[in-house]
Amino acid sequence: MNGYFDYNATTPLLPVAQEAWIEASAKHWHNASGLYREGGFTRRKLEEARERLGERLGCEPERIVFTSGATESNNALFHSLGLSHADSTVLSSAIEHPSVREPLQAAFAQRTELLSTHSSGCVDLDDLAEKLKKAPRALVTTMAANNECGVLQPWREMLALCRNAGVPFHTDASQWIGKLSAQELGECDYITGSGHKFGGPKGIGFLVMKNENEALRFMRGGPQEEGRRAGTENYPSVEAMVTALEGLTPQLSGIASTQSSYRQQFIAALREQLGAVRVIAEESERLWNTVMFVTPRHDNRKWLARLSQRGFQVSNGSACSALKDGSSTVLAALGASPDDMRQVLRVSSGWSTELSDWLALAQAMKQVLNELDQ
Ligand code: PLP
Repeated sequence: MNGYFDYNATTPLLPVAQEAWIEASAKHWHNASGLYREGGFTRRKLEEARERLGERLGCEPERIVFTSGATESNNALFHSLGLSHADSTVLSSAIEHPSVREPLQAAFAQRTELLSTHSSGCVDLDDLAEKLKKAPRALVTTMAANNECGVLQPWREMLALCRNAGVPFHTDASQWIGKLSAQELGECDYITGSGHKFGGPKGIGFLVMKNENEALRFMRGGPQEEGRRAGTENYPSVEAMVTALEGLTPQLSGIASTQSSYRQQFIAALREQLGAVRVIAEESERLWNTVMFVTPRHDNRKWLARLSQRGFQVSNGSACSALKDGSSTVLAALGASPDDMRQVLRVSSGWSTELSDWLALAQAMKQVLNELDQ
């Protein structure tokens, strides 16, 4: 039995990624900037990995800058744009990850406007169209898929509206990449991605820039990454991250339909065994692996502890987005009440989670409810 249901927080390293990392570390550990033959080999392998990632994302490899992960990518982008666009505003949404929210606040302070969100969990396109009429806008930034409730955002439509208005569009696609096809994401002006969300190592990610000549320099020092992000390149982790994505991509549509059917059976089992269970944004298009629901009663921390004792790892979904009082900005934007927030759980499966794992979790939840009711 595999009780790990917190893949939106992080994923285990895929075996192919682990092999790739070990081989790259053993053979190509030399500094890619070294002017000897071995340094040249590392450089070549790194650039090949950049090209392979570009193919998966549908973008020119020169636009990709490797970073330490999504948090760095988001900080780097907003900090750089904040400096170069002192008089412009940014449009974002209320359901963003704190690694978008916080640096936006630091870089643009009062110059950030939030787009409204429908109760379905989707950003309101009419509101975006209206707000785009007010110039100047430095950027529109919204996530591609929400990490808590899994709702897919209409990023293609938002991109089209931004194109018409001549405003650059950034999407934090950390939860999208590795779960759904990333091929069209390259159309966006800026993309954030993170290796550990799709079976790659932790501490590696990327920011796709608008174009290869863009003079955003967000880590100063040596000339690495065309001077945009200084610091010795982490080739083994880049190799493992790209290998993970290549390993998953061909299987994605099959996995999506199998896992969403398992998730459906899990919800049915929960409702049969626990009674009323309200799924957040149930009618919306969501990531195939994610379900966030309000348990019938009891504080979610009690649920987490008891499930953990039984070998199941789930989340209250708000660890990253929690406000001081423990409530979630994302759930608040979806109209959830404080009671809902205290009782909510997020379950997120992996690419090879079995139906028996899902049903074992439902069974464990039944036992936990009986225990907590006593
Ligand atoms: N953006 C989103 C949407 C996320 O879900 C996460 C992680 O939870 C991050 C950014 C942060 O990613 P990283 O750990 O790579 O900094």
